[in-house]
Amino acid sequence: MSMNREGRVTRPEMPGAEGGEVATWSGNRALMLEEALIFEIGDEGTTGVDLPEGPAAVRPRLGGLERNRPIGLPGLSEPETVRHYTRLSRQNYGIDLGFFPLGSCTMKHNPRLNEKMARLPGFADIHPLQPISSVQGALALIDLVAHWLKTLTGMPAVAMSPKAGAHGELCGLLAIRSALEARGDARSVVLVPESAHGTNPATAAFAGYRVENIPATPAGRVDFDALVARLGPDVAAVMITNPNTCGLFEPDLKRIADAVHAVGGFVYCDGANFNAIVGRVRPGDLGVDAMHINLHKTFSTPHGGGGPGSGPVVFSEALAPFAPLPTVERDGDRYLLVEEFNRGAAHDDSFGRMVAFHGQMGMFTRAAAYMLSHGADGLRQVSEDAVLNANYLLRCLEDVLDAPFAASGPCMHEALFSDDGLADGFTTLDIAKGLIDEGYHPMTMYFPLVVHGAMLVEPTETESKANLDAFVGALRHVVTRAKAGDPALKAAPHFAPRRRLDETLAARKPVLTWRDPDLAQAAE
Ligand SMILES: *Cc1c(COP(=O)(O)O)cnc(C)c1O
Repeated sequence: MSMNREGRVTRPEMPGAEGGEVATWSGNRALMLEEALIFEIGDEGTTGVDLPEGPAAVRPRLGGLERNRPIGLPGLSEPETVRHYTRLSRQNYGIDLGFFPLGSCTMKHNPRLNEKMARLPGFADIHPLQPISSVQGALALIDLVAHWLKTLTGMPAVAMSPKAGAHGELCGLLAIRSALEARGDARSVVLVPESAHGTNPATAAFAGYRVENIPATPAGRVDFDALVARLGPDVAAVMITNPNTCGLFEPDLKRIADAVHAVGGFVYCDGANFNAIVGRVRPGDLGVDAMHINLHKTFSTPHGGGGPGSGPVVFSEALAPFAPLPTVERDGDRYLLVEEFNRGAAHDDSFGRMVAFHGQMGMFTRAAAYMLSHGADGLRQVSEDAVLNANYLLRCLEDVLDAPFAASGPCMHEALFSDDGLADGFTTLDIAKGLIDEGYHPMTMYFPLVVHGAMLVEPTETESKANLDAFVGALRHVVTRAKAGDPALKAAPHFAPRRRLDETLAARKPVLTWRDPDLAQAAE
């Protein structure tokens, strides 16, 4: 095993024919190339461009703070730079490379058409401070997406500006707080079911509420009786994810909403999983007061690696007056961007702004292209196919993997399994590492928390039966090894650029900046 100067393994081991380890001299594995940090391969003397000598520097007045040694950036020639980043990109796994089974994330195929539309100069190159008369097309597009979102959810108002699901949750709770304050009824508690996405309790706490848990039933749904028993005049809102994070529809949502409304509270619905019910259920009909929609999960847009996102929030009649600005409005054949509170006008009660400008234009454009190319019937088909695919996986795997809620009927867009039945000492983590060797990004692990060793798999609607069968084959193989206690699985992945990492150390003591080992040594 060879190490770099930071003590990091650079030359991976791999199982040889006899089960022993073999290593290549280069550290490469055929066309999978080993890649060092740019600081390790670059040097300060090399440059990719020849710049003319600059004029003699004027001594800046920095009071002795001017830099007295080189900045230490690594230098590479142009082809070396291109290769470095290309090699790194090849170690990345993405939806364009293979099946991406992450549940609770909806890693959806993003049609190339959407990208083409998002790059049109009239959408991509405009500036948020441009005169309104010069961005009429962009405003028309925002209005179009807003119209579709209101129609699909059956809700009368929408705030387009929130920039992610969690941001949308905050937007919804701020509107709820404003509505309560407007009637002089400040309340202190937000009820959140056990199976909620972690952002829900975080949002409620951030908005200043005390969070109380509501348990789940053995069938993986909100415990209706426990929820109703807790309702009272101190409850500002209930936050419910539907379909929930166990991949199940909450059939009691309407009854829950009626009960919450009866005590003067509001219903926030986490709509991140809306892709499972688009065109089939309108949350407005279920009594929802506010719900965010992750455009980046339900209406395409690539969102791996942390962005970008867009989380518009739809509102009921009761909350609409408190929605944030800006909003796009139509005045005859002109579009207006309403940004100001007008005394006595419709937006007097708006709680304010969520963002400096108007939201994620690129996401709006992709969503519009997706909506228009599918049409209303196509969007319904998308959700039906997503649900069909998830149920296909559930039924193909339930004989080898424990599926805690499979008996309570079909799942929605994602299938949930537990680690029950693996050999002693084998866990969900081993399944995930084995899948990496099989060439798959692992599924979501250890979430939702209500299921031990959870594995949450979401296939989305665009995976073909052949793709799903291949994944099922790989997963069944790994599970069989985990049930038989195969020690080689404990050491997986064998074929990835790195073996198992010390994830605790990485989380507790992350090394986020490069330290030149020579300088570090000199300092000691
Ligand atoms: C993804 C997700 C969120 C958070 O959305 P972000 O855009 O990542 O902030 C909230 N709830 C559920 C159920 C989700 O799946």
